[in-house]
Amino acid sequence: MSLNETLFQRAQITTPGGVNSPVRAFRSVGGTPRFIKKAQGPYFWDADDRQYIDYIGSWGPAILGHAHPEVIQAVQEAATLGLSFGAPTEAEILMAEEICKLVPSIEQVRLVSSGTEATMSALRLARGATKRDKIIKFEGCYHGHADSLLVKAGSGLLTFGNPTSAGVPEDFTKHTLVLDYNNCEQLESAFQQFGDQIACVIVEPVAGNMNLIKASEAFLQTMRRLCSHHGSILIFDEVMCGFRVALGGAQSLYNIKPDLTALGKVIGGGLPVASFGGRADIMAHLAPLGGVYQAGTLSGNPVAVAAGLTTLKLIQKPGFYQHLSTQTQKLVDGVNAAAQEAQLDFCADAIGGMFGLYFSKTVPTSFEQVMKSDANQFKQFFHKMLDHGIYLAPSAFEAGFVSATHDDKVIETTINAARSVFSELTCK
Ligand SMILES: *Cc1c(COP(=O)(O)O)cnc(C)c1O
Repeated sequence: MSLNETLFQRAQITTPGGVNSPVRAFRSVGGTPRFIKKAQGPYFWDADDRQYIDYIGSWGPAILGHAHPEVIQAVQEAATLGLSFGAPTEAEILMAEEICKLVPSIEQVRLVSSGTEATMSALRLARGATKRDKIIKFEGCYHGHADSLLVKAGSGLLTFGNPTSAGVPEDFTKHTLVLDYNNCEQLESAFQQFGDQIACVIVEPVAGNMNLIKASEAFLQTMRRLCSHHGSILIFDEVMCGFRVALGGAQSLYNIKPDLTALGKVIGGGLPVASFGGRADIMAHLAPLGGVYQAGTLSGNPVAVAAGLTTLKLIQKPGFYQHLSTQTQKLVDGVNAAAQEAQLDFCADAIGGMFGLYFSKTVPTSFEQVMKSDANQFKQFFHKMLDHGIYLAPSAFEAGFVSATHDDKVIETTINAARSVFSELTCK
């Protein structure tokens, strides 16, 4: 038995399913999850000392590559000064200033420890500020696991949603309207019907939790216009795409100003930092200024903030995003060309340092479309790539991530592996 298998068996005795976050269990692709020992740059190594090129990057944070020396040093220095104080620090001001500078729609920001906390708090704030209960989200977008957001569309058009998780009372989800991503008409009808009751619309402006799906410009513009018109708050959940698709987040690419933005992943550089922020008049509703309660023992933790601040500093180096996008595009073009040689129904897409690989003829634009891609073929592809030492997300419905350390050699190795794997897929 491999060490990975031994560890997986052992883990399942004391941890449900053997993992601390479900996708890590490889359930949708089958097989044994790799237990990671260490990581450096674009690589990590599993318990059996096998090396992989990593295209998850901790689901986004590792944008500089793993264990960047400056980030590690900043963390070490911060740690020697004490791990947590439960009192404010200057570093938190620097972090807030940096976020407000880089994302102009954010006038004020509060630091939290996870993306789930960020969206959950943004939602409460939107409801508190508007004194309304109803919210709109989109099928296939993931916003963490707060009760109001674990919701799928109800049966019938424009009916309120049903829980996607056991343990979520219907009383919570009955306020959540779930619409189709990239569908402007549905948005229009929803606001026509419920406009004055809608506290907020929450959206991933580049969706990365149903594989990669880009919002159309019209979709986001429609949302912006309707929210402004009806006094609803527009929340961009940029926990994944913020500082991943561009320095100013997806909102800088689309040139749309949300009222609130949730950030996470990259801003922690691998440690638990997330944030929500936006219009100062809305943020003023938060405790201790206003009546919307929100708090956290480890919010703004000094060690985590040190990792985040250093990461934010390094991604501002001239040419950083140019390089990241170029490498991601090379990967996507190469893999796509290899699939075409093998005459597979396959396509690929990229934006900044994020990519999508789809076993379908065309790039999907909605949850419904992405669900039609060939998950079975993906499963084979995933495992064969893993055998070649390429670690992709263990699900056909997750995006992939490239880091600044994925150099030409790493990309070429990946494309060559894909070419070989694709040729085997067609032989089947
Ligand atoms: C990852 C993610 C979250 C949740 O963040 P956690 O830190 O895992 O709680 C929320 N929204 C989006 C878009 C995400 O990708």
